[in-house]
Amino acid sequence: MPIKVLDPKVVSRIAAGEVVERPASVVKELVENSLDADSTQISVEVRGGGVGLIRVMDNGAGIPSGEVELAFDRYATSKIGELADLEGIESLGFRGEALPSIAAVAQVDIVTCTAGESVGTHLSLKDGVVVNRGSQGRSPGTTVTVNNLFRRVPARLKFLKSPATENSHIANVVSQYALAFPEVKFTLLIDGKAVLRTAGSGRLIDSVIEVYGLEIAQNMVEVDSQDRGWESGTVVSPPRVTGMAGSPAVSRSSRSYLSFFVNRRWVSSRMLAWAVEEAYHGLLMQGRHPVAIISISLPPEQVDVNIHPAKTEIKFQNEHIVFGAVQRATRQALIELAPVPKIEEVATAYVSPPSAPRLWTSAGGGDRPATSPSPTYPTPVVSLPLLRVLGQLASDYIVAEGPDGLYLIDQHAAHERVLYEKIKRQRSGQKVEVQGLLEPVTLEVNPKQDAVLKSHYEDLAQFGFSIEPFGDRTYLVRTVPALLHNKDWVGMVRELLDSLSGGDWVESI
Ligand code: ADP
Ligand code: MG
Repeated sequence: MPIKVLDPKVVSRIAAGEVVERPASVVKELVENSLDADSTQISVEVRGGGVGLIRVMDNGAGIPSGEVELAFDRYATSKIGELADLEGIESLGFRGEALPSIAAVAQVDIVTCTAGESVGTHLSLKDGVVVNRGSQGRSPGTTVTVNNLFRRVPARLKFLKSPATENSHIANVVSQYALAFPEVKFTLLIDGKAVLRTAGSGRLIDSVIEVYGLEIAQNMVEVDSQDRGWESGTVVSPPRVTGMAGSPAVSRSSRSYLSFFVNRRWVSSRMLAWAVEEAYHGLLMQGRHPVAIISISLPPEQVDVNIHPAKTEIKFQNEHIVFGAVQRATRQALIELAPVPKIEEVATAYVSPPSAPRLWTSAGGGDRPATSPSPTYPTPVVSLPLLRVLGQLASDYIVAEGPDGLYLIDQHAAHERVLYEKIKRQRSGQKVEVQGLLEPVTLEVNPKQDAVLKSHYEDLAQFGFSIEPFGDRTYLVRTVPALLHNKDWVGMVRELLDSLSGGDWVESI
């Protein structure tokens, strides 16, 4: 084929793909626009996993009647004016690509009104072309309605996951911005049901309660570097780091409870995740990740947000200073939470005579001493030789002697492995032992978990969980696997729901 310039329609479809990857990207762009317009109330409504309908309504500045069409032109923006502005971006948007990109892959209706106008403007677009314009009454603010997302882009539609998964991504986006902007009242409706409602009180802890629930919120401590150095104009001073960090007691099996906001933009950054995890060094078991919400503020010229159209990746001018600031501020918060044990205490704990060794198979599990006075040791499976138990170290390790030397057994991990093998056996024989609960237990979940749980009752039932809906983000649990009875099965169910965005669900269970 000879070289030729692509038709503008093809170009806009290609470009749209960079901004609008899935329904949650539309929600993210629209919410960012509402935030840039200084809204104090933002309500998001979705149906059919976002493919059917996405509607974002705000009470922000609105778009003047004469500029509404322009807002849908590619690279049309009110947020930057010239090249130099790119160096100091303070708004979330700046590329002027979101509205035209969304309009290229969906049907869009907008109703908007500014404070100075007596009546609002209504515009309808199909395939990126205006098909209708008129006046419509509304209070100052903007409502953008997106229908039939990707209907004309079958390739994209095919790659979308189940509505439950898409909903959980959407719930995550709104949750993250609710954490980043505690002063804004957010509402999220999924298929007519309110799954998130924040008060807009301005206090981060209130948003944490709404998004992650009371249990996690109670275990969070405030992070504040107190460092306002950069405001005094020194170039190399560290950024201000604020937010909340969870005590090690609320650790998670994935990194999905780590949120980072740079100048209030929700970003993903391995470097920042690493900085926080470094702060937890020695406090969490291997494979566990902290819960933390970290906001970094620094002069906009010290961070480049113009890396990718989705604007979730950033580059810091001075990575190691940011790394150090985040790690220090988080560590400081954790140290205040749990004073380091005094040297003498540690020493006595180590030399005290070993009590009857706890068994990894003991019925009480985890933290209770074995009840049987003369424990019998299970025959080690796979490759472990016969071991003689010498004692227990720091409540974490079983010290044993084998034919070839000393063995340190991570008691917790060993216990988990025993349970894992047992569950696998029971399930393959289709005889998972079930334990009925005396009283049904209510289980509250966050919006993201809610979306996943909705479509997975049956899988859970296979493993002995009988769970049924019981109002807003609340479920009733009637039976649990016998193996988990008396254990923190609530925590385990939550963890499961968190780990299910992809991968094999049965294996995860
Ligand atoms: P960008 O956000 O990068 O400027 P968009 O395509 O998202 O680009 O939006 C184009 C313009 O439309 C914005 O610059 C802004 O002026 C206007 N706009 C979009 N959404 C809103 C909104 N909810 N309230 C007020 N103005 C808006
Ligand atoms: Mg935008």
